[in-house]
Amino acid sequence: MFADRLDDLPPYLFARIDELKAEQLRRGVDVIDLGVGDPDLPTPPHIVDALCTAARDPANHHYPSYVGMPEFRSAVAEWYRRRFSVTLDPETQVVALMGSKDGIAHIPEAFVNRKDYVLVPDPGYPVYRTSTLFAEGKVHPMPLTAEHGFLPVLEDIPEKVARKSKILFLNYPNNPTAAVAPPSFYREAVEFAREHDTTLVFDNAYSEVSFDGYQAPSFLETDGAEEVGIEMHSLSKTYNMTGWRIGMACGNAEVLAGLKRVKTNVDSGVFNAVQHAAIAALSGPQDCVRESSRIYQERRDVLVAGLRGLGYNVDPPKATFYVWMPVEDGMAFSQRLLTGAGIVATPGIGFGSCGKGYLRFAITRSVDRIREAVDRIGRLRP
Ligand SMILES: *Cc1c(COP(=O)(O)O)cnc(C)c1O
Repeated sequence: MFADRLDDLPPYLFARIDELKAEQLRRGVDVIDLGVGDPDLPTPPHIVDALCTAARDPANHHYPSYVGMPEFRSAVAEWYRRRFSVTLDPETQVVALMGSKDGIAHIPEAFVNRKDYVLVPDPGYPVYRTSTLFAEGKVHPMPLTAEHGFLPVLEDIPEKVARKSKILFLNYPNNPTAAVAPPSFYREAVEFAREHDTTLVFDNAYSEVSFDGYQAPSFLETDGAEEVGIEMHSLSKTYNMTGWRIGMACGNAEVLAGLKRVKTNVDSGVFNAVQHAAIAALSGPQDCVRESSRIYQERRDVLVAGLRGLGYNVDPPKATFYVWMPVEDGMAFSQRLLTGAGIVATPGIGFGSCGKGYLRFAITRSVDRIREAVDRIGRLRP
Protein backbone atom coordinates (compact mmCIF):
# COMPACT_ATOMS: atom_id res chain seq x y z
CA MET A 1 0.00 0.00 0.00
CA PHE A 2 2.74 2.48 0.94
CA ALA A 3 5.29 3.93 -1.46
CA ASP A 4 8.80 2.45 -1.44
CA ARG A 5 10.23 5.63 0.03
CA LEU A 6 8.48 4.95 3.31
CA ASP A 7 10.36 1.65 3.52
CA ASP A 8 13.63 3.57 3.21
CA LEU A 9 12.94 5.60 6.33
CA PRO A 10 14.80 4.52 9.44
CA PRO A 11 12.51 2.91 12.04
CA TYR A 12 11.10 5.66 14.16
CA LEU A 13 12.63 4.81 17.50
CA PHE A 14 10.89 7.69 19.24
CA ALA A 15 7.49 6.15 18.54
CA ARG A 16 8.69 2.94 20.23
CA ILE A 17 9.84 4.90 23.30
CA ASP A 18 6.43 6.58 23.45
CA GLU A 19 4.79 3.15 23.55
CA LEU A 20 7.04 1.98 26.38
CA LYS A 21 6.35 5.19 28.27
CA ALA A 22 2.58 4.79 27.80
CA GLU A 23 2.86 1.26 29.18
CA GLN A 24 4.60 2.53 32.34
CA LEU A 25 1.95 5.24 32.76
CA ARG A 26 -0.82 2.64 32.44
CA ARG A 27 0.82 0.74 35.29
CA GLY A 28 0.62 3.85 37.41
CA VAL A 29 4.36 4.64 37.34
CA ASP A 30 5.20 8.31 38.04
CA VAL A 31 7.23 8.75 34.85
CA ILE A 32 9.89 11.50 34.65
CA ASP A 33 10.17 12.38 30.97
CA LEU A 34 13.62 13.68 30.08
CA GLY A 35 13.15 12.47 26.52
CA VAL A 36 11.59 15.22 24.48
CA GLY A 37 13.35 18.40 23.38
CA ASP A 38 10.34 20.55 24.14
CA PRO A 39 10.58 23.31 26.77
CA ASP A 40 8.34 22.81 29.81
CA LEU A 41 8.37 26.59 30.40
CA PRO A 42 5.44 28.62 29.02
CA THR A 43 5.64 31.20 26.23
CA PRO A 44 6.16 34.65 27.86
CA PRO A 45 2.82 36.47 28.42
CA HIS A 46 3.57 39.53 26.23
CA ILE A 47 3.94 37.18 23.26
CA VAL A 48 0.68 35.37 24.04
CA ASP A 49 -1.06 38.76 24.36
CA ALA A 50 0.21 39.82 20.94
CA LEU A 51 -1.28 36.65 19.44
CA CYS A 52 -4.66 37.21 21.10
CA THR A 53 -4.89 40.79 19.86
CA ALA A 54 -3.85 39.83 16.33
CA ALA A 55 -6.21 36.83 16.26
CA ARG A 56 -9.18 39.16 16.89
CA ASP A 57 -8.35 41.32 13.87
CA PRO A 58 -10.21 40.02 10.78
CA ALA A 59 -7.42 41.44 8.59
CA ASN A 60 -5.35 38.50 9.83
CA HIS A 61 -7.88 35.82 8.92
CA HIS A 62 -6.83 35.52 5.27
CA TYR A 63 -4.09 33.57 3.54
CA PRO A 64 -0.77 35.00 4.64
CA SER A 65 1.93 35.92 2.13
CA TYR A 66 4.15 32.98 1.18
CA VAL A 67 7.41 34.51 2.35
CA GLY A 68 6.18 36.19 5.52
CA MET A 69 4.76 39.64 6.26
CA PRO A 70 7.16 42.52 5.53
CA GLU A 71 6.94 43.54 9.22
CA PHE A 72 7.96 40.04 10.31
CA ARG A 73 10.90 39.91 7.90
CA SER A 74 12.05 43.37 9.06
CA ALA A 75 11.81 42.27 12.70
CA VAL A 76 13.99 39.25 11.89
CA ALA A 77 16.56 41.42 10.08
CA GLU A 78 16.59 43.87 12.98
CA TRP A 79 17.04 40.99 15.48
CA TYR A 80 19.98 39.61 13.46
CA ARG A 81 21.53 43.09 13.42
CA ARG A 82 21.15 43.58 17.16
CA ARG A 83 22.07 40.07 18.23
CA PHE A 84 24.79 39.13 15.72
CA SER A 85 25.72 42.36 13.88
CA VAL A 86 24.62 40.60 10.69
CA THR A 87 22.96 42.73 8.00
CA LEU A 88 20.13 41.09 6.05
CA ASP A 89 17.93 42.54 3.32
CA PRO A 90 14.42 41.69 4.58
CA GLU A 91 13.14 41.59 0.98
CA THR A 92 15.42 38.86 -0.34
CA GLN A 93 17.34 37.41 2.60
CA VAL A 94 14.60 36.41 5.06
CA VAL A 95 11.86 33.80 4.58
CA ALA A 96 9.27 32.86 7.20
CA LEU A 97 9.06 29.15 8.06
CA MET A 98 6.53 27.02 9.90
CA GLY A 99 9.35 26.24 12.33
CA SER A 100 12.86 25.45 11.15
CA LYS A 101 11.81 21.81 10.58
CA ASP A 102 9.76 23.13 7.63
CA GLY A 103 12.88 24.66 6.06
CA ILE A 104 15.07 21.63 6.76
CA ALA A 105 12.44 19.24 5.40
CA HIS A 106 12.02 21.16 2.13
CA ILE A 107 15.47 22.50 1.23
CA PRO A 108 16.74 19.26 -0.40
CA GLU A 109 13.76 19.29 -2.81
CA ALA A 110 15.18 22.49 -4.29
CA PHE A 111 18.82 21.42 -4.70
CA VAL A 112 19.24 17.65 -4.67
CA ASN A 113 18.93 15.50 -7.77
CA ARG A 114 18.67 11.72 -7.66
CA LYS A 115 21.88 10.23 -6.23
CA ASP A 116 23.42 13.56 -5.28
CA TYR A 117 25.02 13.46 -1.86
CA VAL A 118 23.93 15.35 1.23
CA LEU A 119 26.40 15.61 4.11
CA VAL A 120 24.60 14.83 7.35
CA PRO A 121 25.97 14.86 10.92
CA ASP A 122 25.81 11.49 12.74
CA PRO A 123 24.39 11.71 15.36
CA GLY A 124 22.09 14.49 14.20
CA TYR A 125 18.58 15.89 14.08
CA PRO A 126 16.72 13.11 12.20
CA VAL A 127 15.08 15.41 9.62
CA TYR A 128 18.38 16.07 7.75
CA ARG A 129 18.43 12.40 6.81
CA THR A 130 14.75 11.93 6.01
CA SER A 131 14.48 15.10 3.91
CA THR A 132 17.46 13.86 1.88
CA LEU A 133 15.78 10.50 1.34
CA PHE A 134 12.51 12.15 0.27
CA ALA A 135 14.48 14.09 -2.36
CA GLU A 136 16.04 10.78 -3.49
CA GLY A 137 19.48 11.99 -2.48
CA LYS A 138 22.18 9.88 -0.83
CA VAL A 139 23.05 10.50 2.79
CA HIS A 140 26.74 10.70 3.59
CA PRO A 141 26.98 10.56 7.38
CA MET A 142 29.68 12.68 9.02
CA PRO A 143 30.63 11.06 12.35
CA LEU A 144 30.60 13.37 15.38
CA THR A 145 32.91 11.86 17.97
CA ALA A 146 34.10 12.93 21.41
CA GLU A 147 37.67 12.71 20.12
CA HIS A 148 36.99 15.62 17.75
CA GLY A 149 34.77 17.61 20.08
CA PHE A 150 31.67 16.35 18.23
CA LEU A 151 32.67 18.35 15.12
CA PRO A 152 32.71 16.58 11.74
CA VAL A 153 36.19 16.14 10.28
CA LEU A 154 35.58 17.71 6.90
CA GLU A 155 38.92 16.47 5.45
CA ASP A 156 37.72 12.90 6.03
CA ILE A 157 34.91 13.30 3.48
CA PRO A 158 36.05 11.40 0.37
CA GLU A 159 36.78 13.76 -2.53
CA LYS A 160 34.31 12.05 -4.88
CA VAL A 161 31.52 12.40 -2.29
CA ALA A 162 32.43 16.02 -1.56
CA ARG A 163 32.37 16.82 -5.28
CA LYS A 164 28.87 15.36 -5.69
CA SER A 165 27.44 16.83 -2.50
CA LYS A 166 24.76 19.48 -2.81
CA ILE A 167 24.05 20.29 0.81
CA LEU A 168 26.13 20.32 3.98
CA PHE A 169 23.97 20.33 7.11
CA LEU A 170 25.56 21.66 10.30
CA ASN A 171 24.06 22.40 13.71
CA TYR A 172 25.84 24.19 16.59
CA PRO A 173 25.06 24.47 19.46
CA ASN A 174 24.36 20.85 18.65
CA ASN A 175 21.46 18.54 19.23
CA PRO A 176 21.94 15.82 20.49
CA THR A 177 25.59 16.15 21.66
CA ALA A 178 25.19 19.65 23.22
CA ALA A 179 28.59 20.57 21.71
CA VAL A 180 29.48 24.08 20.59
CA ALA A 181 31.88 24.88 17.73
CA PRO A 182 34.93 27.18 17.89
CA PRO A 183 35.12 30.14 15.45
CA SER A 184 37.78 28.33 13.41
CA PHE A 185 35.28 25.59 12.57
CA TYR A 186 32.81 28.08 11.07
CA ARG A 187 35.60 29.39 8.82
CA GLU A 188 36.60 25.85 7.79
CA ALA A 189 33.00 24.99 6.95
CA VAL A 190 32.55 28.08 4.74
CA GLU A 191 35.83 27.26 2.99
CA PHE A 192 34.72 23.65 2.42
CA ALA A 193 31.37 24.75 0.99
CA ARG A 194 33.04 27.25 -1.33
CA GLU A 195 35.65 24.78 -2.52
CA HIS A 196 33.12 22.04 -3.27
CA ASP A 197 30.31 24.26 -4.47
CA THR A 198 28.01 22.87 -1.79
CA THR A 199 25.17 24.77 -0.14
CA LEU A 200 25.76 25.06 3.59
CA VAL A 201 22.56 24.87 5.61
CA PHE A 202 23.29 25.86 9.17
CA ASP A 203 20.69 24.95 11.80
CA ASN A 204 20.95 27.43 14.67
CA ALA A 205 17.89 26.42 16.73
CA TYR A 206 19.81 26.67 20.05
CA SER A 207 21.77 29.91 19.64
CA GLU A 208 19.91 31.53 22.55
CA VAL A 209 20.14 28.67 25.06
CA SER A 210 23.62 28.97 26.54
CA PHE A 211 25.46 28.99 29.85
CA ASP A 212 28.45 30.29 31.79
CA GLY A 213 28.62 33.45 29.67
CA TYR A 214 28.95 31.58 26.37
CA GLN A 215 27.11 33.24 23.46
CA ALA A 216 26.68 31.26 20.28
CA PRO A 217 27.36 33.07 17.00
CA SER A 218 25.28 33.07 13.86
CA PHE A 219 26.96 31.16 11.03
CA LEU A 220 26.25 34.29 8.96
CA GLU A 221 28.83 36.23 11.03
CA THR A 222 31.59 34.25 9.28
CA ASP A 223 33.33 35.95 6.33
CA GLY A 224 31.93 34.56 3.08
CA ALA A 225 29.03 32.74 4.78
CA GLU A 226 26.40 34.63 2.87
CA GLU A 227 27.91 33.48 -0.44
CA VAL A 228 27.67 29.79 0.43
CA GLY A 229 24.55 29.25 2.43
CA ILE A 230 21.67 29.98 4.71
CA GLU A 231 20.84 29.69 8.39
CA MET A 232 17.67 28.05 9.65
CA HIS A 233 16.47 29.66 12.83
CA SER A 234 13.46 29.30 15.03
CA LEU A 235 11.54 30.91 17.85
CA SER A 236 10.72 27.46 19.26
CA LYS A 237 13.56 27.03 21.71
CA THR A 238 14.37 30.71 22.27
CA TYR A 239 10.88 31.81 23.40
CA ASN A 240 9.34 28.44 24.38
CA MET A 241 7.19 28.51 21.24
CA THR A 242 7.51 24.95 19.90
CA GLY A 243 3.75 24.65 19.46
CA TRP A 244 3.37 27.89 17.50
CA ARG A 245 5.31 26.82 14.42
CA ILE A 246 7.33 29.81 13.40
CA GLY A 247 10.94 30.16 12.31
CA MET A 248 12.99 31.77 9.57
CA ALA A 249 15.57 30.99 6.91
CA CYS A 250 18.13 33.74 6.35
CA GLY A 251 21.16 34.42 4.20
CA ASN A 252 21.96 33.72 0.56
CA ALA A 253 19.15 35.15 -1.58
CA GLU A 254 19.55 32.64 -4.40
CA VAL A 255 19.39 29.65 -2.07
CA LEU A 256 16.32 31.16 -0.42
CA ALA A 257 14.73 31.64 -3.85
CA GLY A 258 15.01 27.86 -4.36
CA LEU A 259 13.42 27.16 -0.99
CA LYS A 260 10.60 29.63 -1.75
CA ARG A 261 9.85 27.87 -5.04
CA VAL A 262 9.32 24.60 -3.20
CA LYS A 263 7.35 26.11 -0.35
CA THR A 264 4.92 28.10 -2.49
CA ASN A 265 3.84 24.71 -3.86
CA VAL A 266 3.37 22.90 -0.57
CA ASP A 267 2.13 25.40 2.01
CA SER A 268 0.49 28.80 2.22
CA GLY A 269 2.59 30.55 4.82
CA VAL A 270 2.39 31.18 8.56
CA PHE A 271 -0.84 32.51 10.16
CA ASN A 272 -0.43 36.30 10.34
CA ALA A 273 -1.43 36.40 14.01
CA VAL A 274 1.46 34.06 14.81
CA GLN A 275 3.78 36.34 12.84
CA HIS A 276 2.56 39.31 14.91
CA ALA A 277 3.37 37.32 18.07
CA ALA A 278 6.81 36.54 16.66
CA ILE A 279 7.40 40.25 16.02
CA ALA A 280 6.50 40.90 19.68
CA ALA A 281 9.00 38.19 20.69
CA LEU A 282 11.91 39.39 18.52
CA SER A 283 11.36 43.12 19.08
CA GLY A 284 10.25 43.07 22.72
CA PRO A 285 12.19 42.73 25.98
CA GLN A 286 14.73 39.90 25.91
CA ASP A 287 15.05 39.23 29.66
CA CYS A 288 12.75 36.20 29.22
CA VAL A 289 15.46 34.63 27.05
CA ARG A 290 18.16 35.15 29.68
CA GLU A 291 15.81 33.85 32.37
CA SER A 292 15.20 30.60 30.44
CA SER A 293 18.94 29.99 30.11
CA ARG A 294 19.39 30.67 33.82
CA ILE A 295 16.76 28.05 34.63
CA TYR A 296 18.32 25.46 32.30
CA GLN A 297 21.78 26.19 33.74
CA GLU A 298 20.56 25.42 37.26
CA ARG A 299 19.00 22.17 36.05
CA ARG A 300 22.14 21.26 34.13
CA ASP A 301 24.22 21.75 37.27
CA VAL A 302 21.91 19.54 39.35
CA LEU A 303 21.84 16.75 36.75
CA VAL A 304 25.56 16.79 35.93
CA ALA A 305 26.63 16.94 39.59
CA GLY A 306 24.15 14.19 40.44
CA LEU A 307 25.31 11.87 37.65
CA ARG A 308 28.97 12.51 38.45
CA GLY A 309 28.25 11.73 42.10
CA LEU A 310 26.97 8.35 40.94
CA GLY A 311 30.19 7.73 39.03
CA TYR A 312 29.01 8.61 35.52
CA ASN A 313 31.41 10.41 33.26
CA VAL A 314 29.54 13.44 31.95
CA ASP A 315 30.58 16.96 30.93
CA PRO A 316 28.49 20.07 31.64
CA PRO A 317 27.39 21.46 28.26
CA LYS A 318 27.88 25.14 27.36
CA ALA A 319 24.61 25.34 25.43
CA THR A 320 21.32 23.60 24.50
CA PHE A 321 18.99 21.92 26.98
CA TYR A 322 20.56 18.47 26.59
CA VAL A 323 23.08 16.41 28.52
CA TRP A 324 24.87 13.80 26.38
CA MET A 325 26.18 10.95 28.48
CA PRO A 326 28.50 8.17 27.30
CA VAL A 327 27.33 4.70 28.40
CA GLU A 328 28.10 1.11 27.35
CA ASP A 329 24.93 0.65 25.35
CA GLY A 330 22.51 3.56 25.10
CA MET A 331 19.57 1.43 23.99
CA ALA A 332 19.89 -1.07 26.87
CA PHE A 333 20.47 1.72 29.39
CA SER A 334 17.41 3.69 28.29
CA GLN A 335 15.23 0.59 28.66
CA ARG A 336 16.64 -0.06 32.13
CA LEU A 337 15.96 3.56 33.08
CA LEU A 338 12.39 3.35 31.89
CA THR A 339 11.42 -0.01 33.34
CA GLY A 340 13.59 0.19 36.47
CA ALA A 341 13.33 3.87 37.38
CA GLY A 342 10.42 5.32 35.39
CA ILE A 343 12.73 7.74 33.58
CA VAL A 344 12.55 8.51 29.87
CA ALA A 345 15.88 9.38 28.23
CA THR A 346 16.67 9.03 24.54
CA PRO A 347 19.18 6.42 23.33
CA GLY A 348 21.77 8.13 21.15
CA ILE A 349 21.28 5.62 18.36
CA GLY A 350 17.97 7.33 17.60
CA PHE A 351 20.09 10.15 16.12
CA GLY A 352 22.43 7.94 14.06
CA SER A 353 24.73 4.96 14.46
CA CYS A 354 27.54 7.04 16.01
CA GLY A 355 25.19 7.84 18.89
CA LYS A 356 25.12 4.17 19.93
CA GLY A 357 27.18 4.54 23.09
CA TYR A 358 25.27 7.55 24.44
CA LEU A 359 22.13 8.61 26.19
CA ARG A 360 20.51 12.05 25.81
CA PHE A 361 18.77 13.69 28.73
CA ALA A 362 16.57 16.73 27.97
CA ILE A 363 16.56 19.05 30.99
CA THR A 364 13.04 20.19 30.24
CA ARG A 365 11.76 19.32 33.72
CA SER A 366 11.99 21.12 37.08
CA VAL A 367 15.01 20.92 39.39
CA ASP A 368 12.91 18.85 41.83
CA ARG A 369 12.05 16.29 39.18
CA ILE A 370 15.68 16.15 38.02
CA ARG A 371 16.80 15.56 41.65
CA GLU A 372 14.22 12.81 41.93
CA ALA A 373 15.52 11.30 38.67
CA VAL A 374 19.10 11.28 40.00
CA ASP A 375 17.90 9.59 43.23
CA ARG A 376 16.13 6.92 41.23
CA ILE A 377 19.16 6.31 39.01
CA GLY A 378 21.25 5.91 42.18
CA ARG A 379 18.85 3.21 43.39
CA LEU A 380 18.90 1.29 40.07
CA ARG A 381 20.20 -2.22 40.52
CA PRO A 382 23.02 -3.19 38.15
C1 LIG B 1 13.96 21.62 17.76
C2 LIG B 1 14.89 21.56 16.60
C3 LIG B 1 14.53 22.03 15.34
C4 LIG B 1 13.13 22.35 14.91
O1 LIG B 1 12.53 23.31 15.53
P1 LIG B 1 11.20 23.98 14.97
O2 LIG B 1 10.26 23.86 16.11
O3 LIG B 1 10.74 23.24 13.77
O4 LIG B 1 11.62 25.34 14.66
C5 LIG B 1 15.48 22.07 14.34
N1 LIG B 1 16.71 21.61 14.55
C6 LIG B 1 17.10 21.12 15.73
C7 LIG B 1 18.49 20.63 15.88
C8 LIG B 1 16.20 21.05 16.78
O5 LIG B 1 16.58 20.51 17.93
